[in-house]
Amino acid sequence: MSTPAVIGVLGAGQLGRMLAMAGHRLGLRFRFLDETPDAVAGHVGELVIDSFTQPARLGEFLRGVDLVTYEFENVPVQLAETLARRVKVYPGVTALATSQDRLSEKTMFAELGIGTPPFAKVDSLEELRTAVAKIGLPAVLKTRRLGYDGKGQAVLRAPADVDAAWHALQGTQQGLERGEGAEASSKQAVPLILEGFVNFQAEVSILAARSTTGQVAFYPLTENVHEGGILRISRCPASKRVDGAKFQERAEQLAEAVLKRLDYVGLLAIELFVVGDDLLANEMAPRVHNSGHWTMDGSRTSQFEQHLRAIMGWPLGATQALGFAGMVNLIGPGPELPAFASVPGARVHWYAKQPRPGRKVGHINLLERTQADLEAGLVSTFRMLEQRPNRSAH
Ligand code: AMP
Repeated sequence: MSTPAVIGVLGAGQLGRMLAMAGHRLGLRFRFLDETPDAVAGHVGELVIDSFTQPARLGEFLRGVDLVTYEFENVPVQLAETLARRVKVYPGVTALATSQDRLSEKTMFAELGIGTPPFAKVDSLEELRTAVAKIGLPAVLKTRRLGYDGKGQAVLRAPADVDAAWHALQGTQQGLERGEGAEASSKQAVPLILEGFVNFQAEVSILAARSTTGQVAFYPLTENVHEGGILRISRCPASKRVDGAKFQERAEQLAEAVLKRLDYVGLLAIELFVVGDDLLANEMAPRVHNSGHWTMDGSRTSQFEQHLRAIMGWPLGATQALGFAGMVNLIGPGPELPAFASVPGARVHWYAKQPRPGRKVGHINLLERTQADLEAGLVSTFRMLEQRPNRSAH
């Protein structure tokens, strides 16, 4: 491999930007491919603007590139396959394809003996009614593909919700599919999945990495609080609501099973529900993940560096938390950066994105010596945001 290595990245959003910022310290260079000219990773690497579905500039993107990775999982599989014929693509195409379809993902979890919420494939209103009869209510109806941050989902609480949810999600997919190539034509039903609604005590994620050499590493479980389907707060170690130590081993085992099954290379995030003594897998992301942002300031090796080490075949770095780490997402519109800089001890990460309602524009990391100090820091942060953490955030 030439020195310095050039990494090609599909997608040039904030995850790509943070990947490049971690990689620059290691002497790596980056070239991004994205459909959006103002994509923010373009500030920290070369940016090639092209269509993901009908690319015309792949030669330019690949010139001098040693290997390709991606920062979002809705990259068309066909594009990844085309690139994989010319250069190594990590994580591999199977991992990408599996994670793009909630049904394949949950089927794989089940085959590996990993608990999941009850689920059923739904391709018609008739199948939805049958699935509701089998799984019961409440339940969550989701598009199989392209959902993110709670989009493409509807909660069914009463039998009367069934038809409305079906029609609502058939409409949603049109919006989600913009620019993705209309896989589901207007005549064909949008593929859905019905899941039992889980009354979880907490949501956690396990971040795992596997290198080209087969070495694996796991971060301590991260506890996540979502609001309206969007991640709001992460804590590592988890708060007292979750016995992190008790679940760590099981989480590592299940993550390792997924890494092996997919012959995975890179960083993988698996989101889990804590229910009693069990962990149920909700979904996985074949990339660096929002719930791992605390590692930028709370661990010796950030998830971004870990991903790069894994795909470069370098030894993986230390993963322990250096104290009580917390992360708060900054979601637009809200105060501008200088306001956040005044939160004591806060490390502000600002993505330089145009703020839009519901858009992640940055995050704050806190690292404290005690859980009490972390909670105090989170309260100061939310004061700055002019809202308090909701009850579930405690
Ligand atoms: P997802 O896009 O599947 O990660 O869903 C976004 C958020 O919705 C999750 O983080 C949960 O807070 C909630 N959620 C998703 N699926 C379920 C479920 N089956 N039961 C209860 N809550 C869910």
